[in-house]
Amino acid sequence: MTALMWFRRDLRLHDNPALGRAAESGEVLGLFVLDPALVARSGAARLSWLAASLRSLNDSMAGRLLVLRGAPAEVVPAIAAQVGASAVHMAADHGPYGSRRDAAVADRLTADGRALVPTGSAYAIAPGRVRKADGTGYKVFTPFFRGWSEHGWRAPVDSAGMVRWRTPDSSGAASWSLPTGDAAGLPCLALPGLDLPLDAGETAARCRWQEFRATSLPSYDSTRDRPDLAGTSMLSSHLRWGEIHPRTLLADLDDSSGAQSFRRQLAFRDFYADLLARNPASATTSMDPAFDSAILYRSGSAADADFERWTRGETGYPFVDAGMRQLQHTGWMHNRVRMVVASFLVKDLLIPWWRGADWFMRCLTDGDLANNSQGWQWVAGCGTDAAPYFRIFNPVTQGRKFDPAGDYVRRYLPELSQITGSAVHEPWRLPTPPADYPGPMVDHRLAREEALSRYAALRAAT
Ligand SMILES: Cc1cc2nc3c(=O)[nH]c(=O)nc-3n(C[C@H](O)[C@H](O)[C@H](O)COP(=O)(O)OP(=O)(O)OC[C@H]3O[C@@H](n4cnc5c(N)ncnc54)[C@H](O)[C@@H]3O)c2cc1C
Repeated sequence: MTALMWFRRDLRLHDNPALGRAAESGEVLGLFVLDPALVARSGAARLSWLAASLRSLNDSMAGRLLVLRGAPAEVVPAIAAQVGASAVHMAADHGPYGSRRDAAVADRLTADGRALVPTGSAYAIAPGRVRKADGTGYKVFTPFFRGWSEHGWRAPVDSAGMVRWRTPDSSGAASWSLPTGDAAGLPCLALPGLDLPLDAGETAARCRWQEFRATSLPSYDSTRDRPDLAGTSMLSSHLRWGEIHPRTLLADLDDSSGAQSFRRQLAFRDFYADLLARNPASATTSMDPAFDSAILYRSGSAADADFERWTRGETGYPFVDAGMRQLQHTGWMHNRVRMVVASFLVKDLLIPWWRGADWFMRCLTDGDLANNSQGWQWVAGCGTDAAPYFRIFNPVTQGRKFDPAGDYVRRYLPELSQITGSAVHEPWRLPTPPADYPGPMVDHRLAREEALSRYAALRAAT
């Protein structure tokens, strides 16, 4: 008997309950479907990561991963029929597109006398499980975190050793064009000019976790806001693709202050997934619809030109520009800097958060609809448990506070590399400002006043 394991954002063999369940039925055929609908909205950085991760998964399966391009509702039932699998195993997806896609696949399989069997999810606790006493979901993180901690999560499962892989019959795949690429038939999507700071794949994820535990976790609570230090785990892309499960991480955490603080960040990930599952429209529209008003935001060609300058990291504010260049060159950005660049776009430039969120999704290797749209809404002040709309980050004081010696800025802005110390955060104040770096595109003090007056107008109108 063959079972089909449909990998999606769970590209690992260890602690993979769906894979463990598939292995109980006999031989397992591992399948990944390159869905054109998802490929179209993933940027090159995310696709590069995906390609490397699939290669790593394929290696750990001794070359037996079947990768096909096509619509999952066509490909998955057809492959299940071809190998005579009565069940297709996968981890549940609670996102807006993923749940629609899975419903369509389940319908096709059921019509054919087969079943789609979800086991587990990408989260420590699946969306929908942490509930208030009255059965409704949480809108505010702190009580969610309390409920989440009390609910608890399962221990990691031992799934890697128990699988007998079936070798795919590539001749049967002819009707769904195999992606072009290297000898293993896996897509070759590496992006010239992109310098991924980490290796993708399960082995790299597990190594990264052990390294972080040994070096930075003890001081995580005090260094997690410092982009100039290696203070955070950089596990977000590994978690995004399920190369390691959050439960694997949670099982290793004790009650030290670093571990407690790290556990809280993992809970944020579950909170945002829960919010998105309950409010699918919040992927692109504000949780508080008043904030979608045209009163707040600029549009037109001048706004478009400003948006382009922001994407290129040429705002003239070094802390913002370093973040945008880090994003462009590495596919990743530190959380503190994400908050500052997002605030600059929404509040200094008055450009809607969803334009910035879309840019992030194109550039980030960890681009995740829930974390990204909720992160942006937190900054914009329009989420359920957001920063107050009147909090407007000052890009200079944020830089001076969280990159005190200017090392982070100099790392990503070579044109400022000759400026020593924290003066790098305000190059326009130097006796001779660098000729090849722009002056500030807006005066932050005036931009702040304009944003506050627009927020006041919005409040008066609603
Ligand atoms: C505007 C904006 C956009 C964002 N977009 C994304 C995104 O697309 N994908 C993404 O994974 N994260 C996103 N985040 C959250 C956060 O910035 C990243 O998860 C974090 O920077 C990843 O680095 P790390 O793995 O070193 O984090 P660590 O500090 O080591 O945290 C460990 C893990 O906890 C989770 N986590 C940490 N902070 C948050 C948070 N604020 N919200 C939700 N989960 C969190 C992540 O999975 C992270 O890998 C966004 C935040 C903002 C402000």
